[in-house]
Amino acid sequence: MEQYQTGLVPGPVSVPKKIREAWLTDFGSSDLEPEFFELYTQNQALLQKLLNTRESVVITSGEAMSILWGGLKSALRPGERLLAVAGGLFGEGFADMAKNFAVDVEKVVSEYDSLPDPQKVREAALRFRPKVIAAVHCETPCGTLTPLRQLGEIACEVGALFLVDFVASGGGVAVDVDKNHIDIGLLGSQKVLSLPPSLSVSTVSARAWEVFKEVNYDGCDAYLPWRNVPAVRYMPYTHDWHGMKALNISLSSIMEEGMENAFARHSRTAALCRRLAREMDVRLFPVSEDISSPTVSAFYVPDGWTWESLDAALRARGLAVGGNYGPLAGKVFRIGHMGSQADEALVTRGMGILRDVLKI
Ligand SMILES: *Cc1c(COP(=O)(O)O)cnc(C)c1O
Repeated sequence: MEQYQTGLVPGPVSVPKKIREAWLTDFGSSDLEPEFFELYTQNQALLQKLLNTRESVVITSGEAMSILWGGLKSALRPGERLLAVAGGLFGEGFADMAKNFAVDVEKVVSEYDSLPDPQKVREAALRFRPKVIAAVHCETPCGTLTPLRQLGEIACEVGALFLVDFVASGGGVAVDVDKNHIDIGLLGSQKVLSLPPSLSVSTVSARAWEVFKEVNYDGCDAYLPWRNVPAVRYMPYTHDWHGMKALNISLSSIMEEGMENAFARHSRTAALCRRLAREMDVRLFPVSEDISSPTVSAFYVPDGWTWESLDAALRARGLAVGGNYGPLAGKVFRIGHMGSQADEALVTRGMGILRDVLKI
């Protein structure tokens, strides 16, 4: 399917028409024009508001994986220590990525249908003394949302940087970067912000900038060259003006709706999705609804179906949902109700198709 009639994939989400209009302008060079840097500054301010931070915001080109790599590489040298809070595939991913460049990694593993235990994280942190603690806010494959406050406090206690992937939650739920002591916060464009997968947003604390200077990592995904953009009006590469414009439309639209209203819309749509699933005995994957993310719902593939047969039957009726990866592949499927898809009418229609297919 090139286009979805009913799209409920947990990212990339459907890009609304008013955001797509950003691509109708033939922009000049982002390297040369003051208007680009004004737009960049405006977006930084809007993102500070959305993520509730007074720390700096960096907007880079490239899909979110680029900042997951860039964040780790900018903060850690070979031989230094990373504690990865691994309650899902992305948490595990941090550990694997860091091992790739010879970082000394320890993991605090938890069941994918549950939340990490802060007590275990604290014990490990006190013993292992990591330079960075990495965690994932919304573990999209699991459909869980990990509270960040305690983990942030543990990072402070042991003097570690707190790196958080909120790629799939930021904008749909309060992230509260400063209150949660997040030093490096990572957000993608193709989830709640409803853009194509072309831009990435990071929050960087003063403490993190100090570490970045010390590590002095140089590469296409390095943070250091972004420190004084846009003041210096010089970037390490030509930026994506269309994406920057689209981001501005998206952020302005969230502000127009009201952040609290946008968060409430996500919670309401999530609750609706799970109620409709419960009514047809489709079982939620996380052990309880309380730990589920307002941006994505993960369910067990119903008895009598394989993921492939379910996906084919849904697709035959124009509905696309998310499958899964790793140990959850074939067992758990996902409904993405984030950003443009946090829409009760859309979710009602999608769940209606699921009901028809399951013949309930
Ligand atoms: C989507 C997502 C990313 C980016 O991964 P892609 O699969 O490349 O889109 C990173 N972290 C989380 C938690 C995500 O949901």
